[in-house]
Amino acid sequence: RPQVGVLALQGDFREHAAVLRGLGADVVAVRRPEELTDVDGIVLPGGESSVQDKLSRTFGMAEPLKQAIAGGLPVYGTCAGLILLADSILDGIAGQQTLGGLDVVVRRNAFGSQLDSFETDIDIPELGEEPMHAVFIRAPIVESVGTKATAIASLSDGRVVAVEQGNLLGTSFHPEMTGDIRFHAYFLEKVRAHAG
Ligand code: GLN
Repeated sequence: RPQVGVLALQGDFREHAAVLRGLGADVVAVRRPEELTDVDGIVLPGGESSVQDKLSRTFGMAEPLKQAIAGGLPVYGTCAGLILLADSILDGIAGQQTLGGLDVVVRRNAFGSQLDSFETDIDIPELGEEPMHAVFIRAPIVESVGTKATAIASLSDGRVVAVEQGNLLGTSFHPEMTGDIRFHAYFLEKVRAHAG
């Protein structure tokens, strides 16, 4: 069984852990660098990216995570986790850093107050014909997609909300909250392939 880490510094890591366990993975809550060494992949949960950034640096997790990403570890970031994975960020708090890896620019809290949180159905051809119900909570948007990354889902106005780049996967929204397990299953395929 693949060992999947969930970064458990802040945010909705428990929801991700539940989905991954439901899919048959062994889930490890990762808070320390040592806990990263045994995992075949890791999920970066939603929450508050500026807090996760600070905590990951305070607890010495940022550098090991960057090395793991550079080494090809499968990583799936949702919402705040997508922000952490982005090479560059707009509208971060002062001094906010990212781990990087995904060749994208994300804009944090990209939807105005009226649309702080909303739900909509989106098409994700890579995951089948059935549209996915997507929950956006003070969500980021992928403002631009670099040559190394691929947009795999967009809103009806064309704004990108899911991206993939090799073993890296990111969504602006929260599949861990809706019971649609297709993103996690897709991520686990990458994890299994990586684990060999
Ligand atoms: N607005 C949050 C941030 O900047 C993301 C919200 C979320 O993860 N649901 O990190």
